[in-house]
Amino acid sequence: MKSCYIHIPFCNRICSYCDFCKVYYHKNFVEKYLSALEKEIKEVYKGEELETIYIGGGTPSSLSLEELKRLFDILSILKRKDYCEFTIEGNFDSTTKEKLELYKQVGINRLSFGIESINPKNQEFLNRKESKEKIKEVLDIARSLGFHNINVDLIYALPTEEKKTLKEDLDYIFSLNVEHISTYSLIIEEHTMLYLNHTKNIEEDLDYEMYRIIKEEMKKHHYKHYEISNFAKEGYESKHNLTYWNNEEYYGFGVGASSYQNNQRIENTRSITNYIKGKRNIRIENLSKEDTIEYEIILNLRKRDGISLNHFQDKFNISLEDICNYKELVKNGFLKEEKNHLYIPEEKLYISNEILVQLLERITYE
Ligand code: SF4
Repeated sequence: MKSCYIHIPFCNRICSYCDFCKVYYHKNFVEKYLSALEKEIKEVYKGEELETIYIGGGTPSSLSLEELKRLFDILSILKRKDYCEFTIEGNFDSTTKEKLELYKQVGINRLSFGIESINPKNQEFLNRKESKEKIKEVLDIARSLGFHNINVDLIYALPTEEKKTLKEDLDYIFSLNVEHISTYSLIIEEHTMLYLNHTKNIEEDLDYEMYRIIKEEMKKHHYKHYEISNFAKEGYESKHNLTYWNNEEYYGFGVGASSYQNNQRIENTRSITNYIKGKRNIRIENLSKEDTIEYEIILNLRKRDGISLNHFQDKFNISLEDICNYKELVKNGFLKEEKNHLYIPEEKLYISNEILVQLLERITYE
């Protein structure tokens, strides 16, 4: 076990598209929540030295300075390798100089911020508010404190968006010179404000066109496309997220978090009240070897370098070719096999889900 995810569910405002496990920030809830989190960590963590820790949300930066100190106090129980990638998510609005100084002091070395879009019409649609002044202020302070691994998130394919505004968003993000950019095509999930307002997705062709623009622009600006939705400057790929895509085990602590431990995928409740009461796990999936193989294929193929066929053989004691007739998909150009890796070629990434379905259908166990 080398990775750990911590979920902080509090947010100062609720975005119209949000399907994450979150609640409005409420001071009374925070202390109770942090105590429940502390209890879970103490009960489950086995003392390994971790290589990645990721504090996500919600909006972790919505906590006050004192609450963040309490959080880091709890997390000090987690042992870290010297080179541990230690990330915290946040919004620019709620990030202050004092919080950044605290992050530095406790060893955070990667920051991840939601920008989503800088266009006023898009922001209104998303129910978000980001100002260029505040973004610049926070990034300037972060850089001056020595943070040199920063991610920002971008959402595209909004009904309020045109190719022109997407390009403006991209140019703006490039001007920030961050090390990592995560992009998400808008998905209208049930129980979100957008869903309740009967918002429709944009046409698939336009969505594809926007994805193509993003890939081209990222290439021009020397961001490596290393996972379907993620781009990074050389050497700044997210080590934590690679744990997921490499199908490696990890701890997940907090409401709505999921873990992968000892061949089990464990989901925590999404109810903050139940979590505080200690009623944590709501679903435990015991994985058979076949399940693990399917996860391995699905997750690995999200990465641009796909599945390492040697690693697959070592991990499962069987070659992929022996259980899956994938050669036909290679022949038809849906997959590429090169240097002992099987991956989805760039021009086919957009239909990766369809390719995965076809691939999984070809698996047979004797
Ligand atoms: S998208 Fe992020 S900031 Fe917005 S409501 Fe969801 S968790 Fe909170």
